[in-house]
Amino acid sequence: MAFDRRDFIKGSLAAGTLLSGAAAGAAERAQSGARRHRTIAVEESFSIPEISQESVKFLMSPEGREQGWEAMARFYADQSREWGERSLDLGEGRIAAMDAGGIDVQLLLLGSMGLQSMEAARATELTALANDRLAEAVRRYPQRFAGLTALAPQDPEAAALELERGVKRLGLKGAVINSHARGEYLDDPKYLPIFEAAAALDVPIYLHPSLPAPQMVRPFLDYGLIGPMWGYAAETAVHALRLILCGLFDRFPRLTIVLGHLGEGIPYFLTRIDTQHLNTQAQRTPKLKRLPSEYFRDNFYVTTSGMNASPAVMFCHQVLGADRMMLAIDYPYEPLEEEMRAFERQPLPEADRAKICHLNAERVFRLGDGSTGK
Ligand code: MN
Repeated sequence: MAFDRRDFIKGSLAAGTLLSGAAAGAAERAQSGARRHRTIAVEESFSIPEISQESVKFLMSPEGREQGWEAMARFYADQSREWGERSLDLGEGRIAAMDAGGIDVQLLLLGSMGLQSMEAARATELTALANDRLAEAVRRYPQRFAGLTALAPQDPEAAALELERGVKRLGLKGAVINSHARGEYLDDPKYLPIFEAAAALDVPIYLHPSLPAPQMVRPFLDYGLIGPMWGYAAETAVHALRLILCGLFDRFPRLTIVLGHLGEGIPYFLTRIDTQHLNTQAQRTPKLKRLPSEYFRDNFYVTTSGMNASPAVMFCHQVLGADRMMLAIDYPYEPLEEEMRAFERQPLPEADRAKICHLNAERVFRLGDGSTGK
């Protein structure tokens, strides 16, 4: 029998007796459609033809193959045509999908397979082109789209300038970085210009997954582990923890990082991360002013991308609270309507649902309340 995430979420709710009253209320609300909040989905992918073409070339090149990208390309091969077409659509097709699923606004980010592993100058050029196209799409549909500035961290100075251009000149709302850059992590001091720019502009950085860095990709090459099943979360969680443990948030106390997929597993490990940090910190530098969990609670937001049918939504609600969560689908890689219906069935208090659906995103990404066309 095929796995049906709708049955899964119904079952998981029925199993939670403490939640059964709220669950019944949520089900009723979902059926009657009585209350509908503005919905902003904050991890929605797009690409442009130039980047798709260049990516395919890179994935299949000896360098791309060496880094594991060929396995990634094979992993996506079955569905790549449909996903590819949908991610290139920044017009009516995308809007129709949003309308069908009940999404008012998509915060768009460049899903750049391999771009951060390419040669720096070419990647910098391609991200600028993607940002120009994104800004055009937002200008065409100001009520429906907003976007994040794509960066090529391979050239940190250029990336910092591009972030400034994206925010000040193109009206974009922050940055997206697709995890490691040619196997390097952003805790390396050479990437400081990017964080300095984000802090000066007071905009968030969405740390979006990539496949595991070349130095740890090998065991992920089998069994489909390389992508969303586990590789993305393993890669991105390590990256986020490196940012915390290098003292980045002592240096930039107001810096905001957004993680998809309900925090890439970190919320589940938060207590253990703290205790093991305390156990090992004597042997390490730098010394942190606070516990890792404190930075995670104050400097990070998690989004529900691809995880809306998971009991982990309620777990994050309990551990982090509604103020640190935002709605996301991970379009076009996840089924928008199913994800939304699953999210609506989560037994969240109505005020918290409003925070997750739109209020937090409006604050974090400065999206306005939808009444001004901004
Ligand atoms: Mn994504």
